[in-house]
Amino acid sequence: MTSCDFLIIGAGIAGASAAFELSAQGRVILLERESRPGYHSTGRSAALYTETYGNAAIRSLTVGSRPFFDATVVSGFSEHPVLTPRGVLLVGREEQLASLDEAFAAGSRLTPTIRRLDADAALAMAPMLRPDQVAGAVWEPDAMDMDVHAIHQGYLRGARARGAEVVTDAELTGLTRRDGVWRAETRTGTETRTWTAPWVVNAAGAWADGVAALAGLRPMGLTPKRRTAITFDPTPIPAEANLKDWPMVCDVDESFYFKPEGGRLLGSPADATPVEPCDIQPEELDIALAVDRIERAALFKVRRITHRWAGLRTFAPDMTPVVGPDPEAEGFFWLAGQGGYGIQTAPGMARTAAGLLTSGAVPEDLAALGVNAVDLAPERLRAP
Ligand SMILES: Cc1cc2nc3c(=O)[nH]c(=O)nc-3n(C[C@H](O)[C@H](O)[C@H](O)COP(=O)(O)OP(=O)(O)OC[C@H]3O[C@@H](n4cnc5c(N)ncnc54)[C@H](O)[C@@H]3O)c2cc1C
Repeated sequence: MTSCDFLIIGAGIAGASAAFELSAQGRVILLERESRPGYHSTGRSAALYTETYGNAAIRSLTVGSRPFFDATVVSGFSEHPVLTPRGVLLVGREEQLASLDEAFAAGSRLTPTIRRLDADAALAMAPMLRPDQVAGAVWEPDAMDMDVHAIHQGYLRGARARGAEVVTDAELTGLTRRDGVWRAETRTGTETRTWTAPWVVNAAGAWADGVAALAGLRPMGLTPKRRTAITFDPTPIPAEANLKDWPMVCDVDESFYFKPEGGRLLGSPADATPVEPCDIQPEELDIALAVDRIERAALFKVRRITHRWAGLRTFAPDMTPVVGPDPEAEGFFWLAGQGGYGIQTAPGMARTAAGLLTSGAVPEDLAALGVNAVDLAPERLRAP
């Protein structure tokens, strides 16, 4: 039997970042079912940091995460910057102008650098788009590409350096509470191991409601949603120098996006199909949708698809993450529902979790940006 202060379930970005923050405060063990942390959603993202995406709670957590990302070289977290300039152009047709106005009004509250563009200015920035498909845009110059691997590995490495133990091939199969501590069982092949801790942190991504069920707790109503992505060569092929400097282009109502990725383009139909938690794979129909929607908007064709994948984005019913202690079980802490923003919000979310767990409060800098324990609390999703 191995004991610790905080037993974290799931070593994706949520569990890894929480392990990093909490290991400064106590002994942490991080349990991961797969042999490779990051195998699920964390390793399948589009790797974009954008402050205009998601609801108000997400935007606050994102903006509050930026100082951590910007300081990774100085702090020794990573050898090179984890964010590199990209810029995002949210585009809309005539009938989407109201959506652009809304996105601009919501985004400019915390991100004053964003700009509302007319059709000519948008097309000057994105000459690969069909002029009849662009009536205006919102330009976010400070949106960045993220090095997700470096961020995830930085968190795992940093947590280990602070004394945390990361245990892979360890699937949580049982969770009971007795005499003020949780007793967790994991299975590796035929071997069963037991772990004890006063706190369990549920960072199991798409499986978070299932982990709660192991403890006999009611679900939060989390829904994993499939999202598909491809990388492809566009034709006519723009000069490499141009292509790699393109901004990310997103439809303002999220029906497609594309952005440069390793000398090619990464594209998605921005699908969000509810599914059961699993090792999700892409569907042919969604790949065809990606091609169709991108080709309708752009002057290039999708010539050769070089890579295709799908991942799960897991949402609470109100699209806000679930961060806080379970109101019905002592010592059970939720860190789930990261949706489509789990990488860019990880520093803010992990510091919020550590603050709530160790001092009962959201860190002051995040609270000043509007991060609020009540908005994130599990209570909001439990019917009385
Ligand atoms: C196509 C796509 C594009 C995206 N683009 C972006 C983007 O541009 N920017 C952004 O910020 N976010 C993006 N996201 C969202 C982001 O990837 C997720 O929000 C984030 O990875 C969720 O992290 P997580 O740690 O909660 O989940 P995961 O990475 O899935 O980790 C959960 C872990 O828990 C483990 N686990 C589950 N059950 C158990 C158990 N019983 N015992 C032990 N371990 C268990 C799993 O094996 C898994 O490794 C995108 C997602 C997709 C799919």
